[in-house]
Parts: sequence; structure tokens; C-alpha cells
Amino acid sequence: MLYNQVQDLKGTIRVYCRVRPFLPAQSDGHSTVDYIGENGDIMIVNPYKQGKDARKIFTFNKVFGATATQQQIYLDTRPLVRSVLDGYNVCIFAYGQTGSGKTYTMSGPDLTTEETWGVNYRALRDLFHISKERMEVIEYEVGVQMIEIYNEQRIFSSCLNLTVCTLDVRNNSQLNGLNVPDACLIPVKSTDDVLDLMKIGQRNRAVGATALNERSSRSHSILTVHVRGKEMVSGSTLKGCLHLVDLAGSERVDKSEAVGERLKEAQHINRSLSALGDVIAALAQKSSHIPYRNSKLTQVLQDSLGGHAKTLMFVHINPMVNAVGETISTLKFAERVA
Ligand code: ADP
Ligand code: MG
Repeated sequence: MLYNQVQDLKGTIRVYCRVRPFLPAQSDGHSTVDYIGENGDIMIVNPYKQGKDARKIFTFNKVFGATATQQQIYLDTRPLVRSVLDGYNVCIFAYGQTGSGKTYTMSGPDLTTEETWGVNYRALRDLFHISKERMEVIEYEVGVQMIEIYNEQRIFSSCLNLTVCTLDVRNNSQLNGLNVPDACLIPVKSTDDVLDLMKIGQRNRAVGATALNERSSRSHSILTVHVRGKEMVSGSTLKGCLHLVDLAGSERVDKSEAVGERLKEAQHINRSLSALGDVIAALAQKSSHIPYRNSKLTQVLQDSLGGHAKTLMFVHINPMVNAVGETISTLKFAERVA
């Protein structure tokens, strides 16, 4: 007996837009968000444009305004997360320019305040909660991997210590969804285990030189939760996995300004984000060719994008006027994959 209560979401790609609030220091700013409709509409006003180009409406599955809480965000994410326990593969992405709220949505600003926990912790807490409820029917095992992709070709595994290593990506059905087999898979039994892990991870990042912090907005960070279940009576097994992806900042870098390392980073980010966009757009159009092989990111996530897998993309908007160019390009990206 499985709990396929979210069958109707199978194979779908959903896009949620989240507008972050003005930060205290920016509280006198004008917002480029003119209105948010009940039905997933958002209207953006561009003060640099005249006439009909000054206003644009975009439509998504849902739009969350600046007052939406982490709890509200999670309520609309929960069905996808829970389907992992029924054996589905799920990808949840945070997309947007640096400073638009991606890390806030996925991790939250502060691990010590439960109220502001992001999707990552809420998802794990929920998975443990539901697996406990089903304890008499299915026995679950949960393990997590933390991976970072930087400059397309290099993949770091941030384990419990600071060792960063280059990893192979393999797409091989024998690996049971472990496309990056060398990244350590850490077994977890409770939300506390996960919190401990994250705290160590954060501390490692914090002490690991500013270069590493600097890098965080220019690397894709992926937390993967692997779930295996065994039905008590029949003995049959299932597996599912949840990829929680905090993407690199999507801002376009001025080619005349960026040089050397910075320019190379920007080109790699552009390439991998557009490869991701191409894959999701091809899936949405039910195209016969899905171009997974164009980036490391899409290779790592291949078996969780398409087929029976489910995808949710959070696109993030910074409402400030000086961000309007990036806001429009973020919303255009999102419209293409919706
Ligand atoms: P990104 O990861 O996209 O670069 P962050 O998540 O770091 O952006 O957010 C940038 C700043 O805005 C941080 O100080 C963060 O705490 C704040 N912030 C983002 N989203 C929200 C929100 N929904 N509510 C309150 N503060 C937010
Ligand atoms: Mg971030």
C-alpha cells in the first residue's frame, strides 16, 4: 500500500515566483512589482521604459509576495517533497540574481530560529515525520549528499570536513540514482542529525576563507536526500530522491568589466543555467530529445528531470528599481520553462 496522493502532479513542471521584501536599509525604495494576482499573475513596472513596454504581466503556478512566510512557502512545496516517500524523484530549484532570496528560501537566514527555516530543513523534518507515521507499513532509510558545482567542470563535495575534491559524474543505472558516487552519502535518522550536519557545513564554509564564501553565489549547491523504503509485508522495495538546489546567481556580467577568472565563472554559470533552461523547456514541450549532456548540472540531475520525476522552480525577484533588468530576464527565463 503506497500513498500516491500526489499522482496528479506526476511529470509536471511547476514554477513559483517569490518576491523578497525590501531590506531595512532599502525601505524607502519604490517597488517594481505593481501587483500580484490571485491566479499567479505578477505585473512588473519598468520605470526606464515608456508606453506599453513599461508594464509586463507574467503568469506562473503561484506568486508569493514579500509577506509570504517560510511556512506558507513550504505548504505549497510539501506535496512534491512527500511524493519522494512513494518512490518519486523530485528536483526543487532556487533561481534568481544574487541577493534575490534563493538561499533564504532554501536554507533560511538563520539555523537557530525554527520559524525561518527554509525548504531544506522543513522537507527533511517532514520526511522523518511521515516516515514515522508509516513505520508499521514501510521501513525507510534516509541519506544525504552535499555537492557543489563550480565552473562547470569541477564538482566539490562538501562533506563533514573541508576536503574538497573533484568528482566524476556517471549516469549509470547500476548506481541507483547516485550519479556522483564518490560524494559521501551520510545516513541520517532525525532532523537533529541533519541540523548538526548543516551547522558543521556552515562552520566549514565560514572558516574556509572568504574565497569560499565569495564562491557561494557563483556555484550551484545541491543537497540530495536519498530515500529507500521496504514494505514490511510484501518485502518489496522503493527508492526516491529529492534534490534541493540553490543555483548560482543568474545575473549577467558585463563583458567589458569582467576579466580573467571572473569572466570564466560568469560564462560557466550562463552556460549551465541556460542548459538547465533548455532541458526543462524541452521537457515541458515533451520534446523527443532532452539535451542533458550540455552541462554538469543537468548530468548530475538527469534521472530526476523528466520521466516520472517532478520539478519545482522557485524564481526569485528583488523588487528594487535598479534590479528591474535582471527581474525581467529572470521572469522571461521562468516563463520559458513554465
Ligand atoms: P541569494 O541567495 O539569492 O543571493 P539571499 O537569500 O542571501 O539571496 O538574500 C539576500 C538578503 O535578503 C539576505 O539578507 C536575506 O536574509 C534577505 N532576504 C531574502 N529573502 C527574504 C525574505 N523573504 N524575507 C526576509 N528577508 C529576505
Ligand atoms: Mg545565496
